[in-house]
Amino acid sequence: MKIHEYQAKQIFGRYGVAVPSGVVCSSADEAVAASRKLGGNKWVVKAQIYAGGRGKGGGVKLATTHEDVRKIADAMLNHVLVTPQTGPNGQMVRRLYVEQGVEITHEYYVALVVDRTMQCISLIASEAGGMDIEQVAMQTPSKINKMAINPLIGVNVETAKGMARKLNLPPANWSEFAELIIQLYRVFDENDASLLEINPLVMTHDHQLLTLDAKLNFDDNALFRHPEIVALRDLDEEDLLEVEAARHELSYIALDGNIGCLVNGAGLAMATMDIIKLYGGNPANFLDVGGGATAEKVTEAFKIMLRHPDIKAILVNIFGGIMRCDVIAEGIVQAAQEVKLTVPLIVRLAGTNAEMGKQILAQSGLAVISADNMADAARQAVELTASSMQPGSMN
Ligand code: ADP
Ligand code: MG
Repeated sequence: MKIHEYQAKQIFGRYGVAVPSGVVCSSADEAVAASRKLGGNKWVVKAQIYAGGRGKGGGVKLATTHEDVRKIADAMLNHVLVTPQTGPNGQMVRRLYVEQGVEITHEYYVALVVDRTMQCISLIASEAGGMDIEQVAMQTPSKINKMAINPLIGVNVETAKGMARKLNLPPANWSEFAELIIQLYRVFDENDASLLEINPLVMTHDHQLLTLDAKLNFDDNALFRHPEIVALRDLDEEDLLEVEAARHELSYIALDGNIGCLVNGAGLAMATMDIIKLYGGNPANFLDVGGGATAEKVTEAFKIMLRHPDIKAILVNIFGGIMRCDVIAEGIVQAAQEVKLTVPLIVRLAGTNAEMGKQILAQSGLAVISADNMADAARQAVELTASSMQPGSMN
């Protein structure tokens, strides 16, 4: 799960991490009131969307008068922002963060990540932080430093200072840097984060370290023990169908093809997508109903599938183990009664109660194309999507 920059900074603040003062706003009037409240003569207006690269896309702008703040807020709010990370369609800006403008003398990069190879959290840091960190990583990887953190000990002050030395930080800031890393590690650990990134961490003109940007992602599997984090979720920023699927405890991943895949189990999902590709087709998504799905859950899965705008065929590929094929079949029939089936439906059922499932479908009056095996199912789905210029009504 992701959160906005301003929310991450609020969490950081609670752990003692130094962040600039700022106010979140949803209108130009609020933005002006925010700059007045913050005082000073320099503010930065920052679009709050779940994607980065805002600086490059015009989503981070400096203002030196309250009138500037108003103009920038008007131009950003309720407009689509395209950044190198949003994709060409961009993202609608619904919220802004108005923050004190900071005099920067140097930009660093600091991140904590789940390091699967080392089986711990690792610190990644660079003295070449800022908006071009991706190029730095590609062209001069030696400028990116990595340090594994022993989970039994946590961050050791001396090793954190070692990282400060590698970043060529002035020795006067080494203790401050070590303390920052200790605070960030606590944020990461106590909140079950999956990624924490500060780019840039800046040196101010009065020689202090300050967190200017903040990205914090959480491990979805640990959200059940953090209701306060779940409450920060901004559904406007997420893929509608993925949110809907999560509400019904279904795993749904959107892809860019036109064959919808309804399967049970991640392994079978992978195999289904592979075989579609093998026959020259492209999956539109995969929707995993899991092991213990009920007919209602399958119905919801079907409805989600049919809301996908590009779907030209649906391939149901179920291997009945704990999941019974007759339950899947009932779910399909129930869904077809509630939602009009506008695309061909190819079903391959195998395993527990497969015959019963096939019978239910055959007696339902639905135009279901039954497949003998996975290859047959994929071939038929690809052929139907290749030939169907217009999805015909199958109901
Ligand atoms: P993004 O990573 O989405 O581009 P950032 O928050 O990193 O957004 O902002 C981009 C750049 O804008 C930063 O690298 C920094 O140079 C500048 N910036 C961001 N916030 C401030 C601020 N409060 N004061 C001064 N400059 C800022
Ligand atoms: Mg940034």
